[in-house]
Amino acid sequence: MKILVINCGSSSLKYQLIDMDNESVVAKGLCERIGIEGSKLTHKATGKEDYVVEKEMPTHVTAIEMVMEALQDPTYGVIKDTSEIAAVGHRVLHGGTTYSDSIIVDEDVKRVIRECFDLGPLHNPANLMGIEACEKAMPGTPNVAVWDTGFGMKMPEKAYMYAIPHEYYEKYGIRRYGFHGTSHLYVSGEAIKFGNLDPENAKVIVCHLGNGASVSASIGGKCVDTSMGLTPLEGLIMGTRSGDIDPAVVQFICNKEGKDVNEVLNILNKKSGVLGMSGGISSDFRDIEKAAGEGNHLAEVALEAFVYRVAKYIGAYTAAMNGVDAIAFTAGVGENDKNTRKNVCNYLAYLGVKIDDEANNVRGERRVISAPDSKVKVMLIPTNEELAIARETLALIK
Ligand code: ADP
Repeated sequence: MKILVINCGSSSLKYQLIDMDNESVVAKGLCERIGIEGSKLTHKATGKEDYVVEKEMPTHVTAIEMVMEALQDPTYGVIKDTSEIAAVGHRVLHGGTTYSDSIIVDEDVKRVIRECFDLGPLHNPANLMGIEACEKAMPGTPNVAVWDTGFGMKMPEKAYMYAIPHEYYEKYGIRRYGFHGTSHLYVSGEAIKFGNLDPENAKVIVCHLGNGASVSASIGGKCVDTSMGLTPLEGLIMGTRSGDIDPAVVQFICNKEGKDVNEVLNILNKKSGVLGMSGGISSDFRDIEKAAGEGNHLAEVALEAFVYRVAKYIGAYTAAMNGVDAIAFTAGVGENDKNTRKNVCNYLAYLGVKIDDEANNVRGERRVISAPDSKVKVMLIPTNEELAIARETLALIK
């Protein structure tokens, strides 16, 4: 049975067709510059050459039509008919306080996605467009919404409530939601399986360290806490986001620089993080590491601060769970950067964490990287959000 996974951004659309009989990727691709001049589709069927179509895509509807054509192309395609697609799983950013479990899309689900445009202004409108485009292209095929906020919605009240007047939660749903939910769900679940941990009680911390970065704590796969908040701005230092900050900084910059709140929030989202801290070198950790290696002080501090904050969150989450059985690293930096993994773990000797340098000398491969006598299992688990979405989708249509 084949499931199509769709991840719509405001001007992009990523897709994967997954054969759920063996969880293998049959084809995948990317539509870029939707609604912008120069749009193109890059399609790759497993075992075949890349297929590139440069054609205007004014909307996500056109993009989905082109994806369907590519999937059925006589040379580069992988299916004869769209009826071979059993269901479509969509990554949807925000389900507000209404939805956390994945769900088959109906009119009410679409209404909630629309009502949450405020909470996910860049993603929710695109996610809805993707769903509506699939409804049009494949009438009758079920669409499933898998919420990026779903995992964090399981946090207890003490972890998700902000210490602000309660009326704002009542009126606007202002609380911590957490993001990267499908990644935390997938990696925490795989860590339990791979590490032979108790599926009911295992205490797992997942460090999703990419351009966007977040940490989660979960017991038996159920989220206890996670570092992102109402928006993805809270928590760790990221490529371009500041993470945790005293909110008074916003007012201070507004007053000193004559900017309004929106401008300063834009700076905190897009010009801060290691990019801002390094004096503008790059948001890419490889560039920051190179500059630090060449002795650039600001780059060194950015890297140290990044690692330090990850370690502080691990400490806090170990306290939140009264222990930790496993720590899993994932996403671009977590999967590829042995130095970051090692440097984070150097803070954790008090927990009995011991890294095996040889095992840690690896990229993008699922493995235990702690020493046999480490009190906490440390693992590298490459994330696979598409597969997590496909599994959720399959479970609902079975
Ligand atoms: P996102 O999905 O949030 O855009 P990714 O999970 O793809 O991000 O991670 C991208 C980041 O991974 C890049 O910023 C890059 O710095 C980092 N990265 C990739 N490879 C390496 C590496 N070998 N060493 C350090 N950082 C790396």
